[in-house]
Amino acid sequence: MRAITNLMIDEWNVKKICWMGYKVSKENPYTYHHIKKRCVGGEESIENGAILTKIAHEYLHILETHDTEKYIYINNVLKQINEQGFMPLERQLLAINSILEEFERENRYVKSKKGKMLIKKEYIEGRICHERIFGKDRRH
Ligand SMILES: [Zn+2]
Repeated sequence: MRAITNLMIDEWNVKKICWMGYKVSKENPYTYHHIKKRCVGGEESIENGAILTKIAHEYLHILETHDTEKYIYINNVLKQINEQGFMPLERQLLAINSILEEFERENRYVKSKKGKMLIKKEYIEGRICHERIFGKDRRH
């Protein structure tokens, strides 16, 4: 893992889930995402980073290719999380989750150029739904 990734994991106190709400495991480790892309001068710095698991990261760039508007939306939430300096709030994970669910409804039957399903099983299953993070039985 890159040094900057480790620095950010410490700073944001990232533990079981990444900034897009995906479960961290040995098979699904942390990666560094450039919020502002490298090709437009985005640096590999703490200010320009988001901590995503490998699966979340791959999925985010699928969105970038297939639905730019949704990609920009999620990338903006990641920017907010970067600026606030602490792990995503419930509403931020909910916002990301609802964008991903919409993408999944719209692209359920779409196949990639290689003929495989565009949306892999682990993109859906790797996400921890917010109830499991914040608790189901909150009183209103
Ligand atoms: Zn990236």
